[in-house]
Amino acid sequence: MDNIIDVVIIGAGPGGMTSGIYSGRANLDVVMIEKGIPGGQMANTEEIENYPSYTTVRGPELSDSMFEHAKQCGVKYMYGDVKSIVKNEDNLFEIDLGNKVLISKTVIVGTGSEHLKLGVEGEDTYSGRGVSYCAVCDGGFFKEKVLAVVGGGDSAVEEAMYLTQFASKVTLLVRRDQLRAQPILVERLKKNEKIEVIYNTSVSDIAGEGEGFSGKVTHLNLINNVTNETSILEVDGVFIYVGMMPNSSIVKDLGVCNDEGYIETNAKMETTVKGLYAIGDVRNTPLRQVISACGDGSIAGQEVYNYIEKELK
Ligand code: NAP
Repeated sequence: MDNIIDVVIIGAGPGGMTSGIYSGRANLDVVMIEKGIPGGQMANTEEIENYPSYTTVRGPELSDSMFEHAKQCGVKYMYGDVKSIVKNEDNLFEIDLGNKVLISKTVIVGTGSEHLKLGVEGEDTYSGRGVSYCAVCDGGFFKEKVLAVVGGGDSAVEEAMYLTQFASKVTLLVRRDQLRAQPILVERLKKNEKIEVIYNTSVSDIAGEGEGFSGKVTHLNLINNVTNETSILEVDGVFIYVGMMPNSSIVKDLGVCNDEGYIETNAKMETTVKGLYAIGDVRNTPLRQVISACGDGSIAGQEVYNYIEKELK
């Protein structure tokens, strides 16, 4: 059969691009598919401070250099939105892009994860009108404005600090009596005078005025989770960082995900389906960082070579 690709990488995040570098350097025919921008979440991160050799590096810059590196290693980049992956009777994968189907010997899934919604009234109505999930994308719209950030993990703490370069004040709303974020970030947060942290508090709903394009957030209705006391917080915008959800729907019928939707792999990044690998944030892994996604990507990029050489020849 013609046009059989050696490896299709789905997702051009740090993991996918590293897989591309490794399998490209192993002389495999590699196609990398992405539906957003190369870099994924990394491209929407202002500063990365834990990627070895850089004390600090901008996410878009690291994304661009990884992308150039992958292309130099022979990776063919393709914009596309994968609908499904099926393994056919010839032991090959059919990757359905809606307008075409690619045939590949192996697939590496590096589709990452996306921000969870808060699930309260007003969230959808005012999305893009004061409700945001991306400080790097939208922070600049809130110069000298009053903002809230919801969440207590690394993302909420980092992005609250990032937003203080624009906002006059940022209130961090934490549902428990403690933060989940790394101690080094918590220490830095405490030193930031523009941030107030309110613990034991949840958002009941997001309120605003106006409709459609002229709609805007005006305040949040809050509830204290210990006393049940309610209050109002006046804000111009709210950034939501309440965790992530794996982008694994394209493999859900292959039986490789756990109950939370993360893809299970062994140490070689192999799933239970031969020739199907998973890397980075979409995988069940104890650490979700740029460097750990790159580590996963390097292993999968090498393992596809071993599999094609030893098992398919
Ligand atoms: P996360 O670690 O899952 O934290 C989610 C936070 O949101 C928790 O504080 C959680 O509270 C809170 N939360 C969940 N549902 C909520 C709700 N309905 N209302 C209010 N608060 C709610 O998510 P993340 O911060 O997005 O991080 C995801 C992963 O990426 C983590 O592994 C993280 O370490 C990693 N990451 C790392 C860095 C870095 O190293 N610089 C930066 C960003 C992200 P509870 O604590 O009460 O559950």
